[in-house]
Parts: sequence; structure tokens; C-alpha cells
Amino acid sequence: MPVLVLVEHADGRPSDLSLQALTLARSLAGAEPLHALLMGAEGAVAAPGLGAYRVAVAHVGEYSGLEFFAPDAWAASLAQLADRLRAAIVLGAASDRGADVMARFAARLEAPLAANCIAARLGPPITVTRLRWGGSLLEEAALKSARPLLTVAPHAVAAEPVANVLETEVRGFAPELSDQDVALRVAEHVPAPVGGVSLKEAKVVVSGGRGVGSKEGFAIIEELAGLLGAAVGCSRAVTSAGWRPHTDQVGQTGTKIAPDVYIACGISGATQHMAGCKAAKRILAINSDPDASIMANADYAVIGDLKEILPAISEELRRRR
Ligand code: FAD
Repeated sequence: MPVLVLVEHADGRPSDLSLQALTLARSLAGAEPLHALLMGAEGAVAAPGLGAYRVAVAHVGEYSGLEFFAPDAWAASLAQLADRLRAAIVLGAASDRGADVMARFAARLEAPLAANCIAARLGPPITVTRLRWGGSLLEEAALKSARPLLTVAPHAVAAEPVANVLETEVRGFAPELSDQDVALRVAEHVPAPVGGVSLKEAKVVVSGGRGVGSKEGFAIIEELAGLLGAAVGCSRAVTSAGWRPHTDQVGQTGTKIAPDVYIACGISGATQHMAGCKAAKRILAINSDPDASIMANADYAVIGDLKEILPAISEELRRRR
């Protein structure tokens, strides 16, 4: 029986997190066909590229009048397609949208959802390894369900294309949606301010926490980020104080990132913060407290006042240019 994956896409490309979900799904599908659901007409542009992830059939969910994200409509579509295909297992990325849609799908089905999986093995019952407590512990679980539902944790499974690329068949799919399904929907999409490096994609992130002290205090973070070609991030203490927008927040309830270098300035390293940056290849902590919990995760640390250290680093970078 086929395995079905919800594939998110933007600008005609599948999202990286969905490609990671497809890679895990492939290991479960074995010789069974892998199907994908891409919502919205633009999905037809992203669909053919899924052959590199062994997707046999990509279904493009067409729903008129809904230009933007509508979680219940997506969940209803996924449920209808899963029924039509008699899908054995359904997966999505544990992205903001994927987690939302899969939870709604599970509620409709009254079935359990194994969220944030990093590995799965066929059963019966299917067993999964999943991240709990913002990633601070791993849980081994058996998923007893007629149709196992899983989300795949961000950046835990490397997206790996196959050597023998399939020619993906692209099919239109018109779900039957009620008024209730479309009641909750994104009405408008306001693009983020242009310029700068995107937090999610940046190779280097300079992030500030409560220790920065104020909104204005972020000038030295921005200065260093500018010199390094880095993105600026922050902790929740900072967004709660209104010093930076939520789009800059790193963590469990912010953006999950995997840069080459993460420079954490005046951030204590709470579990919920580390859940968003622990995939960084190297962490440099700048903190006045040698016992701050971030030290346990840092590859390098500078103990001292960030207001002295950051300008000194920026000065040195400028001198070397
Ligand atoms: P603090 O913990 O107050 O740390 C400030 C640090 O700055 C300290 O280590 C201090 O030594 C250092 N410092 C102070 N002055 C200086 C100076 N001059 N120079 C150098 N260092 C200095 N948090 C997130 O970040 N992201 C999330 O997504 C997130 N999600 C959450 C979800 C839930 C459900 C909950 C309950 C919490 C969440 N939190 C999240 C909050 C988290 O628990 C912490 O409260 C938060 O991360 C603390 O932010 P902080 O490290 O900036 O502040």
C-alpha cells in the first residue's frame, strides 16, 4: 500500500523540510509507491522535481478561492487523498504548517500522531524514535494505528535524492471542502522586509538575548552580523520585550536553524532556545556568566561583557579587511 507525504512548497520548489520528510518516508515505503500531496496550483511547478526523491505520483490539490494556507482545508484534502489511495502511512514535515495540518488530520481520523520523528521502522507495529522536550530527550515509541501518522523533525534527517530518478506522474486533485474547512485561512500575506540574509538559510547567525539589554543594544549585534554576512537572531526574552520581531526568534516556538556558526550573545541557553539552534555545526557563546547553561552546548566561549566583546570583534574584522 502506498505511503503519502504532504509536501510544502514555495516559489516552485519543495521545501527542504519536506524533502527531509520524503527521505524518511522512502525508507518506510520500501518497494511500495510513494505519493505526494502539494496544495495549490503552484505545486504543479514543484512536483516534477520530486522524482529525485522517488515520488511516483504527485497530486496537486486545487482549491479555488483560497490563495493562501488554510489548515483545515489542507487536513481535509490529505484525509480524502489518503482514503482514496488507501495510504498505509501518512507523513509531513514538523514545520509550522506541517505540524498544524497533521495534527488536524489526526484529530479527524481520531488516530495517534507521532510528532517530530527522526527515525521509523516498519512493524507491525511501526516503531519510531522521536524528539521530546524540545529535543532534549529521545523517545522510542510503538505506533499502534491502522494508518500511522508521523511528522519528521526539522534537520534531523538529511534530504537525500536517489541515484535512479523517477519520472513523477503529476495529477490534479480536487478535494471536497465544506465552508467549515475553509473558515480558518490566511487572508493576506505580508512579505518580510527585503534585504539582509534570511535567518533560516544563513550560514552564520549572530543572535542576541536578554543580556543585550535593550532594543538599541542590538546595534552591535547588527554591526557584527553585517561584517560577517550573517543573519540576526534572538531569544524569546527579546521578542517578549518587543526589542525584535518574532521572525527573528530562534527556538522551539521560533525558527529552527542549522547554520555553520551560531554566535549566541547574552543568551543563557534555555532548553527551548537550544531546540532551535542545536543543529548548528559550531556554537560560540559570549556570556558574562561562566556557568550559563549554554556553555554545555558551546564549542567556543568568550566569558565577558558582550558590550565590550562584540565591538572588539567587529573592530578586528574591519582592521583585517
Ligand atoms: P536569560 O535567560 O535571562 O539569559 C540572559 C543571559 O545573558 C544570561 O546568561 C546572562 O548571564 C547573560 N548576560 C547578561 N548581561 C550580559 C552581558 N552584558 N554580556 C554577556 N552576557 C550577559 N526561548 C527562546 O529563546 N526561544 C523559544 O522559541 C522559546 N520557546 C519557549 C516555549 C515555551 C513553551 C517556554 C515555556 C519557553 C520558551 N522560551 C523560548 C523561553 C526560554 O525558556 C527562556 O526563558 C529564554 O530563552 C531566555 O532568554 P535569554 O537567554 O535571552 O534570557
